[in-house]
Amino acid sequence: MIEENNLLASVSETSTDSEFFFPVPAGYKKGKTRFVVVMGTVMSGLGKGIFSSCLAKLMQDKGLKVAPIKLEGYLNIDSGTLNPFRHGEVFVLDDGMECDMDLGTYERMLGQNLSRSNFCTSGQIFSSVLHKERHGDYLGRDVQLIPHVTGEVKLRLRELAAKSAADLIFVEIGGTVGDLENAYFIEAMRELAYEEGPNSCCFVALTYILEPQALGEQKSKAAQLGIRQLMQTGVQPDIVACRAKNPVSETARQKISIYSNVPMNRVISMHDSASIYTIPAMLRESGLDFEVLRLLKIEDRIDLRNERKAWEKWCDFTDKIGQNKYDVTIGITGKYTSVRDSYASIIHAIEHCGIGLGCNVKLKWIDTTELNDSNAAGALAGVDGIIVPGGFGVRGTEGKIACIKYARENNLPFLGICLGFQMAVIEYARNVCGLSGANSTEIDVKCADPVIDILPEQKKIEGLGGNMRLGGNDVILKQGTGAWELYGKVDSVRLRFRHRYEVDPKYIEKLEKAGMVFSGKAPKQPIMQILEIPDHPYFVGTQAHPCLTSRPLKPEPMFAGLVAAAIKRRFPESDIEHWTKVNRRFE
Ligand code: GLN
Repeated sequence: MIEENNLLASVSETSTDSEFFFPVPAGYKKGKTRFVVVMGTVMSGLGKGIFSSCLAKLMQDKGLKVAPIKLEGYLNIDSGTLNPFRHGEVFVLDDGMECDMDLGTYERMLGQNLSRSNFCTSGQIFSSVLHKERHGDYLGRDVQLIPHVTGEVKLRLRELAAKSAADLIFVEIGGTVGDLENAYFIEAMRELAYEEGPNSCCFVALTYILEPQALGEQKSKAAQLGIRQLMQTGVQPDIVACRAKNPVSETARQKISIYSNVPMNRVISMHDSASIYTIPAMLRESGLDFEVLRLLKIEDRIDLRNERKAWEKWCDFTDKIGQNKYDVTIGITGKYTSVRDSYASIIHAIEHCGIGLGCNVKLKWIDTTELNDSNAAGALAGVDGIIVPGGFGVRGTEGKIACIKYARENNLPFLGICLGFQMAVIEYARNVCGLSGANSTEIDVKCADPVIDILPEQKKIEGLGGNMRLGGNDVILKQGTGAWELYGKVDSVRLRFRHRYEVDPKYIEKLEKAGMVFSGKAPKQPIMQILEIPDHPYFVGTQAHPCLTSRPLKPEPMFAGLVAAAIKRRFPESDIEHWTKVNRRFE
């Protein structure tokens, strides 16, 4: 038997004469990185990502380097092909990775850009294992779920550890304990804890306490059974976080404690809260942050001065929640109006601006499928601004164009995002430039004036898959424009993209002559990235998805501009800054 602390050193590659299998990447330092593993029981959708990101934030405040990773059970390589109607929005990282919306939660909570190494699906794991098998990397061994597939999962975690030099990696396992598709992830985590040794891993079981209306009391049985199921996999939780509608009773916590061998101070209530941004405070009050440090024996790594400053800044932000001077309504036109998750980042971006500007922003969801020039005004009655968000396909596009026309002609603040930007160009081409046959070739391939067409460089690779322009790109701002002022008169900003179509450069001159200003462009190619109409109270569109880079302490300027313009429209006497100046508040 190999001695425990030499476990990693002894077999670092596949070996034919040992059953151990620990592929360890170059540069990996055992003991440098500790792991917090968050798993769900009872049901999915409990907010594992929220819990994990809030705890990670508390650790980051203490000066620790943190890195999250989400392990997804599905066989897709990334989330790019998932329908947002079923899975929520596709979140795009700076390096172009299309991933689960939880990665957005981490980016927002931690104020940190993530990359593809923070997102791992079963599809990635299996394709890598199968590739290695064909390559002969397993040296004649029969390739098995254990240890090879679990070995691949551990390899991914250790690669992230080596690359990020993190003190703490937060591993979030998708789905719930008991799902067949996630079982090997949990097994890999059990093995990881064994290989890394004592105090290397902290296991968190997030569970749910039922409170049936008819009974009027909290019931912990489902939670207990869920935790038992986890323990049957050989994993002893160190912490049980109880999601519930109301604060979890002492009795329910005691039952869970007895059942799970987890002391009461580590069975915590994580009940519903009005804002996710107050959850870090809830966790802090429960003392969980220090419990985790003690469990992982890294108390000596923390910087309390850093924590004090970071926490003060955070509280300045959370103190503003609910302190509203204004009330406005923003309409969001979109086809996934029945599933809010498909627009998660937009909702968060608006929330950041609302809190920052002291404004309660109500959202009105507007389905554009049946809208046209004669009924758009009715659908938009009472809104102080609109967002036309991104999307794919034909349905609802004419209704979006009708809403944009109404906004342009009636001085209604408007922000167009990606598809919304493209629709604004079509509307302008049709109704201002007189090109009545203007359209996008995504909608009508044979249209008379394809003002929006497939990207020239994407045409070449069409049909090969992966033909979208994805990820972070620099946007050069045109001096003297509204967008340039809004972003603080900087030459360029970095925004995230996910599109296949763009303004056909042939039409740019015509559009500009008619008054449309392209205030943001790609550095080297004629790709239009931000547009505005100067004599409108707020008419801005962007080919990017600025919502993906909005952060609670740093609201995204284009969203802040929209909310400021909406406030000005509803409260003309208010002292709110002009939209071009509003971002100064957050600098
Ligand atoms: N469907 C459009 C395109 O591919 C817009 C994409 C989007 O809104 N994300 O360019």
